Formats: sequence, structure tokens, C-alpha cells
Amino acid sequence: MRKEDLPKFGVAVSKDLWAKMWSKVIEEAQRIQSILLNGRLYSRIRYGEEGWAESLPDHCHDCNVRKGQFHVPGCDMEKCPRCGEQLISCSCKKSGKWANFIIPQDLGFEVIE
Ligand SMILES: [Zn+2]
Ligand SMILES: [Zn+2]
Repeated sequence: MRKEDLPKFGVAVSKDLWAKMWSKVIEEAQRIQSILLNGRLYSRIRYGEEGWAESLPDHCHDCNVRKGQFHVPGCDMEKCPRCGEQLISCSCKKSGKWANFIIPQDLGFEVIE
């Protein structure tokens, strides 16, 4: 899920409240360390460890996490640990348990407690 998708819930919020909500979303995303792809559990790739670009901004342009953090599920910067393509668009079969309300159901993220 991306930042701009959240207002689909139909609630208007102030910028400050939005920032607070999103930082909570980022916090929750850090609990999700692996993803099920084609029936196998893979460790997620953190922001800055994709090996795509030499220099990246300190914060992810899409989900705003800092370097070394896990992206918010659904972020367009996250790399697939199985095939190395963009995770949201690669053709690996994503399945598994759904973590909580912020996790898009088609991404197959698994929560490791
Ligand atoms: Zn991101
Ligand atoms: Zn893939």
C-alpha cells in the first residue's frame, strides 16, 4: 500500500496526523521480515540494499522509510528477493498469511514475530 492509497478509507486528515499515521505504518512494516514467494519464505530486502543505484536519497521516495529499514509493503522501490525485479510487479507467485490492515492481500507478506 502506498501513502496516496490510504485516503480511500474516506477520512480526511491533517498533514500532522497523516505524518503520525504514516510513521506508525512504517513501524509496523519493520515487523515483516519475510515474504512467501512461490511457496518459499524469502528474507525481504531493506531500503538501500537493493543494489540498484549508487546514491539514493536518505528516505525512500515512495514509502519514506530510512536506509536500512524495510519498505512499507506495496512500495514501488522494494526489490523481489527471489527474482531481483521490482516486487510489486514481478511474476513470482506471492501468497501466505496476511499480517494486518496495512498489508495488501496480494503481496503475500508473512509476519515473523
Ligand atoms: Zn519504499
Ligand atoms: Zn519476483
